[in-house]
Amino acid sequence: MRVLILGGTGEARELARIASGERGLDIVSSLAGRVANPRLPVGPVRVGGFGGVEGLRTWLRENAIDAVVDATHPFAAQVSAHAATAADDLGLPAVHLRRPEWTQRRGDLWTRVPDLAAAAAALAPHHEQVLLTIGRQGVGAFAGCADHRFVIRSIDAPVAPLPPRCELLLARGPFTFDEELVLMSRHRIDVLVTKNSGGEQTEAKIAAARTAGLPVIMIDRPPLPPGAVSVGSVCAAVDWLRAAAAHAVR
Ligand code: NAP
Repeated sequence: MRVLILGGTGEARELARIASGERGLDIVSSLAGRVANPRLPVGPVRVGGFGGVEGLRTWLRENAIDAVVDATHPFAAQVSAHAATAADDLGLPAVHLRRPEWTQRRGDLWTRVPDLAAAAAALAPHHEQVLLTIGRQGVGAFAGCADHRFVIRSIDAPVAPLPPRCELLLARGPFTFDEELVLMSRHRIDVLVTKNSGGEQTEAKIAAARTAGLPVIMIDRPPLPPGAVSVGSVCAAVDWLRAAAAHAVR
């Protein structure tokens, strides 16, 4: 069974690694090409957008794909929607791999907001120093926030427009709890703005904010496409692939 894994996450790489060793599975991974020097999965990889739903449909057909695993980041809503539609149109089984969200614990001071614009609007006057960890895309939503000073952390530099007062920290996680605490203290951070990405790789900042008593503006995930089948772990995605492969040979 030929499988397309839409990637760009640690889970997608882990899934490609495990699934490549499974008999009867022929894996190809896809990356958007956003990061200059990406961590590559095991096995064949294609890079770049497909050209919308139509382009993805054509690519799936031309590459004789039998099943699709959307293992993209929980905030990559567009490609997830395209995957759901294209697979549905072609009658292919598809699953969305979504790691569990972070949930609020005792001591967390979260303000939950639905999107980037709402996160920018939720900044209060006393949030003078803002730690922004939303990735390089979407920073433009904060470009009008002239009353705040931003420390923007991302792997590659975000593209303009940027907030007028900002400092860029180009770094690739994971970061430890101690590193996050030092960062927050050194920059006298008043508030953390982050997406609810979930997962352990970037969770230390949430724990550090809790310990430091810092408020967090937490951006909720976009919903999965309507009717989407989802699993919450790489193991569950492997099980789903095994079941799809068994069904395909029947
Ligand atoms: P998006 O808004 O959902 O997708 C925008 C367009 O990028 C898609 O329509 C598609 O172009 C292309 N694309 C996205 N993921 C692709 C993939 N894996 N393979 C081929 N084309 C892809 O996605 P995004 O939020 O820009 O994220 C881009 C990539 O970065 C994803 O692979 C995601 O896993 C990774 N990532 C995103 C975030 C985040 O916060 N959004 C964080 C970490 C990693 P076409 O329409 O031309 O096919």
